[in-house]
Amino acid sequence: MPTNLQNERLHFPQVGEVEVVRIKRKDIELQVQPNGQCRVRAPLDLSLADLSALVEKRITWLEAKQAITTLNARRPKEYVSGESFWFQGDEHSLDLVKHGKRSNLVFDGRKFLLLPDAASEGKKWFTQFYKREAKEIVGKLVSKISSRLGYSPTSVKILELGARWGSCSKAGGVNFNWKLAMLPPRIVEYLIIHELTHLDIPVHSPEFWRRVEIAYPEYRQAEAWLKEHGSKTTL
Ligand SMILES: [Zn+2]
Repeated sequence: MPTNLQNERLHFPQVGEVEVVRIKRKDIELQVQPNGQCRVRAPLDLSLADLSALVEKRITWLEAKQAITTLNARRPKEYVSGESFWFQGDEHSLDLVKHGKRSNLVFDGRKFLLLPDAASEGKKWFTQFYKREAKEIVGKLVSKISSRLGYSPTSVKILELGARWGSCSKAGGVNFNWKLAMLPPRIVEYLIIHELTHLDIPVHSPEFWRRVEIAYPEYRQAEAWLKEHGSKTTL
C-alpha cells in the first residue's frame, strides 16, 4: 500500500502542490489525478531535497500533463491509447493492445488494456467493466455500512441512473449508479450513507442531514467534491 505518513508535499509554481507517496521502488513516477492534483511516487530512502530536484527536471512534462488532464476531464472519451480513465478515484491510462485475455477490456492493476478491434465500441466495454466492478464494490460496502448503522435494505441494485448517483425504492431497496466504480471509496461511502438514510427519511430535511452527519461528519466536503468532479465521469 502507498503511504504518505509524513504527509510530505512539494510545491512548484507551475503545477501547485505535489503530493509525495513513498513506495518500495527504485525510480520516481509522476502522476496527475483526475482533479489536476499532482502526485509523485518515490523510493522510501530518497531525500525530499533530491526528490524535489528530480521532479523539477520533469516539471514541463508535468505541467503539460496537468493541462491535458484538466482539459480532458469534461470531454467525451475517444478510446485511444494514452487516454485516461477513472477507477476508484485514481486515473489510469488506456493502451490499445492485443493482450491475449478473454475479455475485450481488462484492467491489469495499473492500466486499462483494450483490444484494438474493440476500440470502436470502447464505451460499451468500459460501461460493462464499471457495472461489474460497481456491483462488487458497492455490494460489499452496503452490507458493511448497513450493519454498522443498523439499516437493512431489501435489495441493492446497480443501475443506469443518468445524472443521479443513487435512489431508493418504496420497497426499501437502494439503487446506485454504476459510475460509483469510478469514484474514490470515501465518496462512495458517503453516497451509500446518503441513500441508506433516505430509507428512514425520504426528504432532505434538517433531520436527514443531521443523521447523515452523525454517520459521515465531512458530508459537506463529499457533496462539494461531487459537485466539482462528478461531471468528469462521462464516458
Ligand atoms: Zn438525497
